[in-house]
Amino acid sequence: MNLHHGLPDGFNPDSYGAIVVGAGYAGATCARRLAEACGMRVAVIERRDHVAGNAYDRVDDAGVLVHEYGPHIYHTDNDRVHEFLSRFTEWTDYQHRVLANIHGTLMPVPFNHRSLLMAFGEERGERLYQKLVAAFGEGRKVPIMELRKRNDPELAEVADYVYENVFLHYTMKQWGKAPDQIDPSITGRVPVFVGDDDRYFPAAPHQGMPADGYTALFGRLLDHDLVDVFLSADARGVVSVEGGRVLACGRPYGGEVVYTGPLDELFGSDLGDLPYRTLRMEFETLPVDRFQPVGTVNYTTSEDFTRITEFKNMTGQVLPGATTIMREYSAAYVPGSGQTPYYAILEDASLDLYRRYRERVDPILNFHCVGRLAEYRYYDMDGVVASALELSDEIISSNR
Ligand code: FAD
Ligand code: UDP
Repeated sequence: MNLHHGLPDGFNPDSYGAIVVGAGYAGATCARRLAEACGMRVAVIERRDHVAGNAYDRVDDAGVLVHEYGPHIYHTDNDRVHEFLSRFTEWTDYQHRVLANIHGTLMPVPFNHRSLLMAFGEERGERLYQKLVAAFGEGRKVPIMELRKRNDPELAEVADYVYENVFLHYTMKQWGKAPDQIDPSITGRVPVFVGDDDRYFPAAPHQGMPADGYTALFGRLLDHDLVDVFLSADARGVVSVEGGRVLACGRPYGGEVVYTGPLDELFGSDLGDLPYRTLRMEFETLPVDRFQPVGTVNYTTSEDFTRITEFKNMTGQVLPGATTIMREYSAAYVPGSGQTPYYAILEDASLDLYRRYRERVDPILNFHCVGRLAEYRYYDMDGVVASALELSDEIISSNR
């Protein structure tokens, strides 16, 4: 990888066919494809001191491979995304399983057949399960907000139990709002599962962890003669949008700009700040082989944090006598405070504000927004890569 720290004096944007802002999945995917397919020189400008965006992982002082910005589990049903990423890594066969700590008892989440037996006892739980099967069919995934609409009193009892013990407190911690006050697609990510599969992503034909970690994957993804990566450099010092044109270093820029940062920042938030939720990650290394039975335990009825992740349980790393865990605390994001904007707030007012910023850049043919921040979307990694592959297809065909 052609890696630089900071932008050199005399950085000349015109020597690049494309400037990519951000070295996460969105930016790195576009940079690679534009270099490969168009023979373009690409400058990737990243303000952090590392590549990989929020998927960045590193080895901590105890020798444990940890995910700096929260637990990342790769899963996809998109063959194109999987083929593309598999050029840069092998995968482990890790299948993510999550337990909810419900008043001290650990039950599978998504809530499933086994959770029902644990919550209601073998006999009653089985009868309720058969009711779910009759109502929805075996193998179905039922969003909690859909289950709550059922009038049948026994199904309502299941819905109330799951709503109260799995969703309500966790969602209050994560979003500062109750599940019925947020977009249903969010709780719909973790539907009740009418079946026994206890994996978090049962539908994903491809899942696992990159065999050498995410940062190593990005090292290979960005390793191309035509790609220069500049770390610890804020692209706002280079790229701006004024009068419906892209400027680079204050001059009109004719190359392509792929922007993966928050869109409001590009305009000094002059229409208002786009709201986000942020997270505080609290890492702790313990002198034991293992702390908890699975990769992630969600604290759905107690504690101030939402979940605890134990990295060795996900990466499969063997390291006796030490393990590192991480607790996640969610809060409203304060712009300009140095916090990371992790989750877009999918509400009418914020989506409308986003659209108003977007209208400013959409007419500019050589300026492109892609990724979780720039598209203001709740994307998983595969969704971002899919979006970046589509965008790069368009840029490639217009540059042929
Ligand atoms: P990012 O990774 O945020 O990259 C954008 C980059 O742009 C950043 O590095 C940022 O520093 C840089 N940047 C922004 N502005 C500028 C600027 N002005 N100048 C220079 N650089 C700039 N997905 C999954 O598939 N599975 C999971 O298990 C999973 N777990 C997650 C857990 C958490 C806690 C979070 C928050 C997300 C998780 N995701 C998961 C989602 C995943 O992190 C994202 O889909 C993906 O990383 C987004 O990639 P991106 O390139 O769009 O954005
Ligand atoms: N959720 C919950 N309890 C859980 C798991 C999820 O209430 O045990 C809700 C919560 O609102 C959360 C959303 O479902 O924000 C999506 O969960 P997911 O695990 O997909 O969140 P992510 O890993 O993206 O933070």
